[in-house]
Amino acid sequence: MKRWAPLLAVAILGATTTASAFCRSTSCAGECGRDDDNCKTLGAPLFWPSLCVGFALSHQSSEHIPFSEFEALAIRSIASWSSLACPQGEASIAFVAQPASTCHTAEYNLTGGNANIVLFQDAKWNYKGADNTLAKTTVTFDAVTGEILDADIEVNHAYNEITTGDATVVYDLESILTHEFGHFIGLDHSLDFDATMNATYDPGTSDLRTVEEDDVAGVCTIYPPNRVATCEPTPHGGFSDACQLVAEEPGCSIAHGARWDAAAADPLGRNPGRHRPVGGIALGLLATLLIARRSGLRRGPSSR
Ligand SMILES: [Zn+2]
Repeated sequence: MKRWAPLLAVAILGATTTASAFCRSTSCAGECGRDDDNCKTLGAPLFWPSLCVGFALSHQSSEHIPFSEFEALAIRSIASWSSLACPQGEASIAFVAQPASTCHTAEYNLTGGNANIVLFQDAKWNYKGADNTLAKTTVTFDAVTGEILDADIEVNHAYNEITTGDATVVYDLESILTHEFGHFIGLDHSLDFDATMNATYDPGTSDLRTVEEDDVAGVCTIYPPNRVATCEPTPHGGFSDACQLVAEEPGCSIAHGARWDAAAADPLGRNPGRHRPVGGIALGLLATLLIARRSGLRRGPSSR
């Protein structure tokens, strides 16, 4: 991370004269209204309340990628979002690696342990857009406050050639994970083509490995320096390295009265004219809405 410090310093200096385009993910699902930057105008902005967030890698990794390599790249990816320089100091968000998880499902357990996992889908892709989606981040949050309760990243290795290293780059794992970790911390897609949080990724490039000016501005907004909070990396309900929910059908499980709907909107279908042109492929975010009520809990999907 230190090697990027000079670049980030330059980016911050430039931020005083350049408008940011970053968007925050919000609790709004469905028709939420959009501003000129295509950011949602309704709903509570999402954020992790803690100064640090735990994450766990699937111990399976991918059949094509050794776990040690997966681990090294994942840590580098999330480190790209760490210790970012804001105008008033360092952004107040950090990450804590937790033990590898045996769970191979994106899930949030309302009554037991959890893990914010990163996993590969090697054999199939349970969501829409199997052949044009590289990855998806599912975020579960409190719909009233916007507090993020859980986030899971899935990489679509079933329909894409995911590469590591610099020798041959097709769909670069480190780039994909860096983008998805942006969703993980509450950022939505940005219209800034230079931003790591832009919705598309051109194959053969590793440009998204580093965060850019627009991304940093987003993090500094969500997690400003000197934020009053504590560091608590343990997931809600305690850390669990095993699955807690029982899937009833691919991409859909029901537990404790909550509906987990994986009918994610096709990220490419939202604003096709504003995505990168030919060759681009979507990086998706599936936000799962969680509304707590006395009578129970209801969840529904929102796009991206
Ligand atoms: Zn995305």
